[in-house]
Amino acid sequence: MSTGTTKLDVVVSDVVPVNDLVTRFHFRRRDGELLPTFSGGAHVVVEMRDSDRTRLNPYSLMGSPLDTREYTISVRRDDVGRGGSLFMHRQVKPGLEMVISYPVNLFSLDLRAKKHLMLAGGIGITPFMAQTSQLAAAGGNFELHYTCRTASLGTYADVLQQRYGSRVKLYHDDREERIDLDRLLSS
Ligand SMILES: Cc1cc2nc3c(=O)[nH]c(=O)nc-3n(C[C@H](O)[C@H](O)[C@H](O)COP(=O)(O)OP(=O)(O)OC[C@H]3O[C@@H](n4cnc5c(N)ncnc54)[C@H](O)[C@@H]3O)c2cc1C
Repeated sequence: MSTGTTKLDVVVSDVVPVNDLVTRFHFRRRDGELLPTFSGGAHVVVEMRDSDRTRLNPYSLMGSPLDTREYTISVRRDDVGRGGSLFMHRQVKPGLEMVISYPVNLFSLDLRAKKHLMLAGGIGITPFMAQTSQLAAAGGNFELHYTCRTASLGTYADVLQQRYGSRVKLYHDDREERIDLDRLLSS
């Protein structure tokens, strides 16, 4: 069995609205065992049985890689997509049995780095949630620059600032705040 093709039988243990667009989903193994370990940046492919079709959408794991009692993902509702995110928002409730892939990491941290400069925008924050947890636990050095449309759509901005203080810098589109890439990269 190869990573990515192996599947996990899970149950939705919680569904938590985060803001107007984003909802968080918690999964546990149906057999009560721990889930496989993963590293920050990994995603799983969620199978959605939608009437007569199966949708397959990848979602980044956003929980701490140190805690594999559950996996958590956050899904942004896309009203003009092919329907996967709408399925997650409308049909997925606690207790639903689902199938997900083993975690695959196409966006892993390079642990040789002396410092990690992280740039995130919108729902793209999700892999950084896991990566910052992993780095913080290992005493790693990082700085996260996170752009959001508005403060109320700044998914997990409050959690990140609470956890990491000045290591997190927020930028809001509606306040015309922009990441100064030239300055960041030159330093
Ligand atoms: C590695 C990885 C990790 C991801 N992690 C997350 C995550 O943590 N959270 C999250 O919310 N999303 C994540 N995504 C995105 C997610 O997989 C879905 O794409 C997203 O939820 C939208 O799904 P959907 O089925 O509603 O729409 P999709 O069908 O995936 O559509 C997405 C967008 O593609 C465009 N599109 C779709 N079909 C067409 C078409 N036929 N022609 C032209 N344009 C089209 C539309 O603009 C649409 O808005 C991740 C994607 C990848 C690859």
